[in-house]
Amino acid sequence: MTLRARLTAAFLAVVLGPVLLGALFVGVIVTAVGQSRAEERLEYGAAALHTAVDSLCTRLSGTAETLGLIATESGALDAPRATEYAGALVRRGLAEAVTVTDAGGTAVADAGARVHTWTDCADTTTVTTGTGAGASGGESVAALSAHISLYDSDGRAIGTVRAGVAVDAGLVDSLAAVSGCGVTVIGADGDAPLSSLPADEATSVAATARGLSSGRFEDTDDGGLVRVVSADGGQPLDLALSTDKNLPTGLYPLLLLSVAVAGFAAVGVAWWLARSTTRPVTELAAAADRVAAGDLEARVPVRGSDEVAALATNFNRMTREMQGYVQALTASRDQLRGNLGLLGDTLSSTHDLDRILEVILSTAMTATGAQSGAILLVDDEEDATTTPATLVARCHAGVIAGDPRAAGGIRVRVGEGLLGRIVAGGEPQRGRVTEETAFAPQEPHCHTYIAVPFTGADALVRGPGKTARPVGVLALYDRLGFDEFDDTDLSTLRTFAGQAAVAVENVLLHEEAQRLSLTDPLTGLWNYRYLKVTMDKEVERAHRFGRRTAVIAIDLDRFKDVNDTYGHPVGDQVLIELASRITAQIREVDFAFRYGGEEFVVLLPETDRYGAIPVARRLGEAIRRDPFPLPPSADGTARTVPVTISMGIAIFPDHGESGADVLASADEALYAAKAAGRDTYRVSKSDPEKTPDTDGRDERPVTGPGD
Ligand code: GH3
Ligand code: MG
Ligand code: MG
Repeated sequence: MTLRARLTAAFLAVVLGPVLLGALFVGVIVTAVGQSRAEERLEYGAAALHTAVDSLCTRLSGTAETLGLIATESGALDAPRATEYAGALVRRGLAEAVTVTDAGGTAVADAGARVHTWTDCADTTTVTTGTGAGASGGESVAALSAHISLYDSDGRAIGTVRAGVAVDAGLVDSLAAVSGCGVTVIGADGDAPLSSLPADEATSVAATARGLSSGRFEDTDDGGLVRVVSADGGQPLDLALSTDKNLPTGLYPLLLLSVAVAGFAAVGVAWWLARSTTRPVTELAAAADRVAAGDLEARVPVRGSDEVAALATNFNRMTREMQGYVQALTASRDQLRGNLGLLGDTLSSTHDLDRILEVILSTAMTATGAQSGAILLVDDEEDATTTPATLVARCHAGVIAGDPRAAGGIRVRVGEGLLGRIVAGGEPQRGRVTEETAFAPQEPHCHTYIAVPFTGADALVRGPGKTARPVGVLALYDRLGFDEFDDTDLSTLRTFAGQAAVAVENVLLHEEAQRLSLTDPLTGLWNYRYLKVTMDKEVERAHRFGRRTAVIAIDLDRFKDVNDTYGHPVGDQVLIELASRITAQIREVDFAFRYGGEEFVVLLPETDRYGAIPVARRLGEAIRRDPFPLPPSADGTARTVPVTISMGIAIFPDHGESGADVLASADEALYAAKAAGRDTYRVSKSDPEKTPDTDGRDERPVTGPGD
């Protein structure tokens, strides 16, 4: 059953019930009042009827007495005198018919109407006069009468006097007038009854009254009420009193009509009400259905300003906001997807640590809704044994509160400030900044934070001993909406921190691989490949800043002999020793390369010939001074071998315009040194402009800049 049907039914029940009850009530009350008033009228009419008949009988009795006195004044029945006075009494209206009979019952005097039946007031007996004598002649009538007996002076009955009034329309009309009701003489069945009422009504009343006992009420067919007043001591006539109930005409049809009209109106109103009430609800249900099916465009029309309208307004707002949320979610999902893709691409395609960390940071920020963030790594400029280590921001994004970049970048010592303490603790933390939260001087400020420290594998992380030193920390600040970061964010961020750690490790691994590919496995010096790169870089720099760069080409003297005498492996040991002696003689900023088999190059940035020559001398001296130790011989005796080197010096830009030119010049000078007898050096003579030939033996005093 629909809500609309229920509402309609409820409304009909509420409205039609009282209407029906009211109609019933009115009908019953009006009927009851009509009945009771009719009964009252009939009771009153019956009493009035008794009184009227009584007084009539008393008058008739008085008339008979009077006539009797006059007729027997002489002691005997005086017929003529009786006749005379009887006529006078009738004329005076004291009776309508008077008759005097002698002892034998023979009428001796008559006056008034001819009577066939005398109904006596006192004893209800009726006397029928066969002839129906009457002085006036005409049709004989029934009469209501009183009689007295006449006695002579001796007390013998000598006759009777009767005085009566005709029981006719006049009588019933006067009785009706007295009683205020319809009066009908109940005759025998089939007779047209004598009545104050019209004939058909009278017949109906008489028929109803016939079966009725005295004092009871009965309805007639035409809506009247009948009461029977039977002949009894004071009232000799069988009469029916009748009255109208005086019900309003058309009461019941009117009531029915009212109920019907109210019913139709109620149905109409109920239908309209139910429709107007349920329509918005139906629309809401349909819209909710659409929303449930995923259509967030669904809206309901808002009608009026009632509760349902408020519900519709709220529904629309809810759907609109939901749509907004979904769009935002979709956007952030797309952004996250894009970032993850970018992260994947970046991780797989580059070894640029800063780029990787940037992408990790921005993806983490998107995933958690953070407004700013930073990734700090342990400062790699710092000595590995420095404790506590310093964390330096490798990248940051968003508006960093307090902008510590102005004060030399974001730097936090492990154990100091918010991030430093989290890194020292080693456990990820999240929360809200309070009054007590202490920040390090160069640390970003924030309202809410989440930070995940990460460490690297022992082998890759520089640090004292085998303990894993923190690599860094991934920190995000001030989540959008000022919500705190939650546990989901924490686990998300752990993932990203893990990726950051892996990225750092990968980059370190890559750097290691890079380093391995650029060094010579035997001596540990830089290899030829790196020489070319470094040469180009240094030449470029020197060119840019107008500086000089010196190159010393080194070749072992008669090394073939060493190999031939002691074998190739021993020769290798000599090369290793030579490399370490070279390294010991040069500055930290200088480079030593193994150029070929037993050929080496030393690159001295920011150095001219006056700086390079002493280095060449030092090198020659360091090699020459102490014979190289060799592995003990088969019989266990310790062995050494004297080693010397020849060197060629070339300076950029004096001896060449490119790295390759300078190297070639140094080689040339080296050959010159060899040619000069070995264990010496020569400075290149190849000068595109003009440089005097200079060799190691007749050089100018070695003084000046760079020495
Ligand atoms: P010079 O004074 O003219 O340079 O004489 P040298 O014998 O050193 O001749 P050269 O410079 O041509 O040296 C080439 C020799 O260096 C050949 C080879 O025996 C030796 N050599 C080259 N590479 C290696 C190496 O990796 N290990 C060893 N043990 N010997 C090497
Ligand atoms: Mg050689
Ligand atoms: Mg050689």
